[in-house]
Amino acid sequence: MSGPIQPPDTECEDEPLARVEAREGRSTEVGGLPVARVLPTKGRRTVGAWCFVDLLGPMDAVDPDPLEVGPHPHIGLSTVTWLLEGEAIHTDSLGTEQAIRPGQLNLMTAGHGIAHAELAAALPFRGVQLWVAQPERTRHDQARFEHLDDLPQLELDHADALVFVGALPGATSPARTDTELLGVDLQLRRGTTVVPTDPGYKLAVVPLEGRLKVGEAIVEPGWIGLVPTGVDELPVEAEHDHGRALVLGGTPLGERIQMWWNFVARDRDEISDAYRQWRDRTDRFAAVPSRLERIEAPVPPWMAAED
Ligand code: MN
Repeated sequence: MSGPIQPPDTECEDEPLARVEAREGRSTEVGGLPVARVLPTKGRRTVGAWCFVDLLGPMDAVDPDPLEVGPHPHIGLSTVTWLLEGEAIHTDSLGTEQAIRPGQLNLMTAGHGIAHAELAAALPFRGVQLWVAQPERTRHDQARFEHLDDLPQLELDHADALVFVGALPGATSPARTDTELLGVDLQLRRGTTVVPTDPGYKLAVVPLEGRLKVGEAIVEPGWIGLVPTGVDELPVEAEHDHGRALVLGGTPLGERIQMWWNFVARDRDEISDAYRQWRDRTDRFAAVPSRLERIEAPVPPWMAAED
């Protein structure tokens, strides 16, 4: 899935925090689906290498426009697709065709370049689309795709944790990571769950269901709770049973990134090149087996000014 990034130049920022801060996401739309974009947000462009978080849906069974995201390209990032309800079909330029359901992980690593398409195959549909910026070390590599359906679970006080990326003590995800990263789906019961965390990580909590208290901050679905660095325990309190949240974290990327449209790069020239290569259908982005219409890239504003 894809989402236009505004403003066009998104750089790595690191605003220090004294306490947990709740920030409201922005409402937008991707492939006919309502979206709350909680990262990037004001004053915070990345959480570790996590650089993009869209909450997709809900979309119900009578929705006239089911999720259909036609072939589009990516560079320099991994996409993490995590469904909460329904089913989606992923196809890509490597020849992959993969159904995904809740509890399973689709991890697509673009490297130098990949193109893919996604559509909802079962309704109602709800999910989370996340991007991870690749470091210099791997971002020029060949693309790859992983589907994982046996992810480790862990019981914490008042919560069941499913570790889809990275590790908690006693549960390590088999998913590939290029930098140290954590992605956990917490099913919360009423009470306080203490999540053990690495003090070297940037951390954030993304509520999916129910109002939560993270540290001293109230964070609701559609918002993100940004956590100060240096904590080794993250208290997450659910007011009621059936709370749910993602905990995201990782070591800082330590590299300035520039994001535009579906590309994560380091400067405008790299993005201009990727734009032209998608427009001109060069072999950087091979054909995607999909009945959906290809998505053309908007002209980058700095290129439009040249015409
Ligand atoms: Mn995409």
